[in-house]
Amino acid sequence: MECIFCKIIKREIPSEIVKEDDLAIAFKDINPQAPVHILIVPKKHIASISEMKEEDENLIGHLFNMAREIAQELGLSSGYRLVINNGKDAGQEVFHIHLHLLSGRKFSWPPG
Ligand code: AMP
Ligand code: ZN
Repeated sequence: MECIFCKIIKREIPSEIVKEDDLAIAFKDINPQAPVHILIVPKKHIASISEMKEEDENLIGHLFNMAREIAQELGLSSGYRLVINNGKDAGQEVFHIHLHLLSGRKFSWPPG
């Protein structure tokens, strides 16, 4: 069975898409943890950062550049947090790499 983010990429299940190019897609998180909560997802299925290969480094960098562009477009000038959960103990629930872009409120540190 294919993963849920691959299905979103193929438009097999709906999502609120914010930005898309040939390498990645960004859509609104279904269970937002902040006023702005967007997931930036490579179109290539890679389960986690632990499973990325050296050849994927430009693709992963592309996710951060897309986050920067979205933040600029949304005017998130007072700050935002970028998060990648890797593995069960870090809270990863969907095993297709995704970068969380969170903004619109203050975040504490250290994270919970
Ligand atoms: P993580 O815990 O880092 O694996 O994050 C997975 C995220 O995917 C969570 O924040 C979920 O709310 C989000 N999510 C799960 N299913 C969907 C969906 N169908 N559309 C949008 N976001 C989703
Ligand atoms: Zn996938």
